[in-house]
Amino acid sequence: MSTSYDVINPATEQIVKNVPHLDLEQTDAIIAKAAKAFETWKNVTPGERARLLRAFSQVVTDHREELAQLEITNAGHTRGNALWEADNVANTLMYYSAAPERLFGKQIPVPGGIDITFKEPLGVVGIIVPWNFPMPIAGWGFAPALAAGNTVVLKPAEYTPLTAIRLGELALLAGIPEGVLNILPGKGSVVGNRFVTHPLVRKVGFTGSTEVGKQIMAGCADQVKRVTLELGGKSANIIFADADIEKAAAGAPGAVFDNAGQDCCARSRILVQKSAFDKFMEHFEVAVKKFRCEDPNLATAEMGPLISKKQFDVVESYLDEKIAFQGSAPSGPGYWMPPTVLLPKNAQAKSWREEIFGPVVSILTFEDEAEGIKMANDSEYGLSGSIWTRDVGKALRVSRAIESGALSVNSNSSVRFWTPFGGFKQSGLGRGLGPDAVDSYTELKNVFISND
Ligand code: NAP
Ligand code: MG
Repeated sequence: MSTSYDVINPATEQIVKNVPHLDLEQTDAIIAKAAKAFETWKNVTPGERARLLRAFSQVVTDHREELAQLEITNAGHTRGNALWEADNVANTLMYYSAAPERLFGKQIPVPGGIDITFKEPLGVVGIIVPWNFPMPIAGWGFAPALAAGNTVVLKPAEYTPLTAIRLGELALLAGIPEGVLNILPGKGSVVGNRFVTHPLVRKVGFTGSTEVGKQIMAGCADQVKRVTLELGGKSANIIFADADIEKAAAGAPGAVFDNAGQDCCARSRILVQKSAFDKFMEHFEVAVKKFRCEDPNLATAEMGPLISKKQFDVVESYLDEKIAFQGSAPSGPGYWMPPTVLLPKNAQAKSWREEIFGPVVSILTFEDEAEGIKMANDSEYGLSGSIWTRDVGKALRVSRAIESGALSVNSNSSVRFWTPFGGFKQSGLGRGLGPDAVDSYTELKNVFISND
């Protein structure tokens, strides 16, 4: 039976909106509608599909203020971040609007005729999104999937459904036909799980925790269903003594506390070469204490609240290790947690090993390059990370040695829609974004035509 629930503003604890929880019957009806829409959408000419994606991009741009305000209110994102996120959806759509007209196959030399490959759409694609970056992660899924000629069913996280629901409406406003992009608010165990079990959903693109990702992968095995997993992280920020220490220290708070640390790419383990430790800590403390955790509506805010009381309790449970220093945060109402810097005993400490998903960072030192690499790789995760050094050779050696999908040197950049993104080890399976993401929403077909 269909029910509904209240979406809460995490900065005020006030009710924002009542949203339906779709039940199985409603989910199945929308999947059937998406399957029917696929029969038309797959035959829309590449040029027309490209035009519609560009129109969708423009409509998102026209509504960037409204979308950003929704995200500030629903997810506690800072105004600066929320505007960037709305623009990111528009930019991702624009980037993938070039794809329909460039879905090239190959002509392969064979005896007896000609051989051609085609990139065929899969059909209905299920996208499951977490609550930490609701808008961009939705766009990173639906833009390449639609470009390849699929129709999409998308389940936002229960905490943060509002921008996804609005994006679904904006797609219709842009002229994307009914049934092509469908937003299904509801529970992971009901709607999300149905994407896994429904035979007409041909692929699941999942972003979320490693724990749920493993269940999705196991469930998809039953129908040999295609799956992409973007999972958790425990990324390293590796600072060598020869680096611009002041620059590395000034950027380190943003690299982990942005979005209140609820970021799969958060550099939540700082590794500093021993000889630079004191200098780094001196500058880092100043930067952390300056980091502005405040009302996310303010243009100056660098960090807002945690998403929920539940997440607050999880993060708080990690604060029993030695605290080096903390920044400040507003008192309640709202789920506010100050930026916190921990000094764990060693690399076995809980805060060093587990993804906390809050504004908490742990620091340890290393002696030399070999030890820095070994410590950085001593994790079940491998998603992102930064390397700070002025030595180009060292930057190259360390980048190649780190088991991680998205690294940056002398920068904290993580996800860009131009470049592939995804994880090593338990941080995920497959790659999203970049020029090749569209291929992961297609099946490669080979056709031989005899010249007899
Ligand atoms: P989560 O608990 O795994 O939930 C993610 C999504 O999956 C939600 O929409 C959730 O629905 C749904 N879900 C839950 N159980 C399900 C099931 N059995 N079958 C199908 N769907 C199910 O993750 P989260 O707590 O929202 O997000 C935090 C995690 O996401 C962190 O681990 C973070 O590192 C990871 N993350 C990774 C990336 C990346 O790109 N690698 C990006 C962002 C976040 P409900 O809302 O109903 O629970
Ligand atoms: Mg969860």
